[in-house]
Amino acid sequence: MTRLGAANTFLLVVRRALPAIFAGIVLLAFAMPAKAEAPTLDALTRIEILANDHPDRALQQLRALEREARKAPLTTRAAFLSVLGYTQALAGDADAAQRTSSELEALAGGNREIAAEAMLVRANALFVRGSLDTAAASAKSALESFDAHSPARLRYWARHVLGSILFEQARYDQALTHLQEAARLADDNGWARRRGMVLNSLATLYLNLRQYDNALRTVGEACDIARRNNDSAALANYKLTEANIHSATDTRPAQHAALTESLALAHSVGARAVESAALINLSDYYLSTGNYAAAIEHAEQATPIARDFQDWSGEATIQTNIGLARILSGNTDLGKPLIELALATYKRHGARNDEVAVLREYGDALRKTGQSAAALDTLLRERALSEELLQSEKQRVVLELQARYEADKREREITLLNRENALKDAQIENHRLARRVWWLLLVVSALAALIVGLLYRRVRSTNRQLEERNEELAIQSSRDPLTGLYNRRYFQQRMAQFDANPAPLAANTVRATYLIDIDHFKRINDRRGHPAGDAVLIAVAERLREALREADMIVRWGGEEFLIFVPRIRPEQMSELAQRIINAISENPVAYNGDLIPVTASIGYAPFPLPPAGIRLPWEREINLIDMALYLAKAHGRSRAYGVARLLTDGDGGIERVETDLEQAWTSGLVELAIIEGPPPSPVD
Ligand code: GH3
Ligand code: MG
Ligand code: MG
Repeated sequence: MTRLGAANTFLLVVRRALPAIFAGIVLLAFAMPAKAEAPTLDALTRIEILANDHPDRALQQLRALEREARKAPLTTRAAFLSVLGYTQALAGDADAAQRTSSELEALAGGNREIAAEAMLVRANALFVRGSLDTAAASAKSALESFDAHSPARLRYWARHVLGSILFEQARYDQALTHLQEAARLADDNGWARRRGMVLNSLATLYLNLRQYDNALRTVGEACDIARRNNDSAALANYKLTEANIHSATDTRPAQHAALTESLALAHSVGARAVESAALINLSDYYLSTGNYAAAIEHAEQATPIARDFQDWSGEATIQTNIGLARILSGNTDLGKPLIELALATYKRHGARNDEVAVLREYGDALRKTGQSAAALDTLLRERALSEELLQSEKQRVVLELQARYEADKREREITLLNRENALKDAQIENHRLARRVWWLLLVVSALAALIVGLLYRRVRSTNRQLEERNEELAIQSSRDPLTGLYNRRYFQQRMAQFDANPAPLAANTVRATYLIDIDHFKRINDRRGHPAGDAVLIAVAERLREALREADMIVRWGGEEFLIFVPRIRPEQMSELAQRIINAISENPVAYNGDLIPVTASIGYAPFPLPPAGIRLPWEREINLIDMALYLAKAHGRSRAYGVARLLTDGDGGIERVETDLEQAWTSGLVELAIIEGPPPSPVD
């Protein structure tokens, strides 16, 4: 019975403590200098105080002020709606309070403070209605909309209301944080009444945490504040809390004293909600001490107040207490309907735990009074309900597990997402590396291209050098190193070309070849040394170059033999040229090492095609023919030129006979020779 009574009373006290919280907040808010000047605000403050214990009367006064208040400036209008909303919540009209909150919200527009006030009114409305989750959400939204510059009274209010809601939700540690913060704000701002109220709430919290010493000390401080301020209504309220603490520690006399004091104080100031709570708690006390008449009397005194406040829970508690008292005092028939009425009320409001508690106390009372069958019946009802509750508890556990599973699932999803992100990061890194590789490749390619380009240039210049070298080589291979004249190989190549592609000759011109052999050259070598011989060869080459034209080809044919190829010459000029060659070679001796070396040469020559018939011969046979002419010149005394002038016979193989033996052909009159003499041959013996 004690437990049932205490639990019920406790709930009632918490609910009834709330109006005091609201009243205190608004009272102090309106007491601020800026707002005190407006007369309507003073009126509102007085109404708020009244609302604490007489919400109906407060509502009437607010209605009277309404028209005037709604024409007032924004702040006054907002303040009016705040008080109206609180009062409506205190009067138990949660719907009206919520409508007022919506109105406030619409009024707020961009005003953050009024919007926060709207949220707090809504939180209080929802709290009174018992929608604790949404109430907490609304209070939290208000709290989160604040910053360091938000008014302290709003921050205080939000903390206190949120702390009270969390407390009801049994989230004691969170509730403690907010209530302590609210107490600190009240202390910092010198708001004694607010501090008292928060301390009262904190004491109730400590009671629930079974920290009885803490609870008593805290409520004692709240009582001291109320006493200092001659605030009997507040003191009455705090004394209820103190009584609850004594009840929990089974300190009966102290509980009784506190309740009696609370009742007297509440009654004296007309604080009817507190008076009702004190009466119910006293009836509880008398039930536990076996004074059933007193229990019934006190409970009955509370009934009209509970009805006025539309406090169904309080009324059900009253009915339960009276019913139990009746049964225990032997009037089961009177008590039973009351208990059933209370049970029906609890059932209607879904207060299943209260239902179970009442059934248990009911069964106990029946058993105590020897009504075993009825007690068993009640026990079975209690079991069935407990079972039902257990099932829904199981469901709750399943739902909780589900929620936890969902949370785990989300956790896993987050882990997966994180992994995915890591993967994406890795991919991005890969792309970056790939790009870098491509860049490197590009750079390497560019470098390679550069090197290839440089090498190509090098190769080209090398090739050019090679070409030059080849040209040089070609020149070298076509020239005689000692005299710088064409060599025999070159001449042979040119002759082969001429023969393959003979150049047309102008009229009255022929081509001519002269074979020149230095006379007694061996003697020059022998007598003056090989280098002197070389000097003579060089000098002769030079003299020949001077004597001949550019177009004429001068070839070093062998050791001291030279060949001259004249591409175009009139036949009558051939002997003249022979004479000029002889003169050029032998006119002056060659100076060597202070010596003067006299030089003469013998020459054989011929025109081609051979006149008069213009016989053409391969170049080898031409050379053979002039070689024979040269031989004749040597044989006939040296330092002279023998030229084949023309064939005197063109039939019977004339040319072949000339080629076979020139001297015999000459003596036979087959061929005409031209003979030019030079100076006496040198060197002589
Ligand atoms: P001949 O009047 O009959 O022509 O008498 P020769 O002494 O000129 O006759 P031969 O053809 O027998 O001699 C040629 C000599 O020329 C033989 C060789 O030693 C010499 N000789 C050949 N090539 C060179 C050379 O490049 N330099 C020098 N100093 N002597 C050479
Ligand atoms: Mg010779
Ligand atoms: Mg010679």
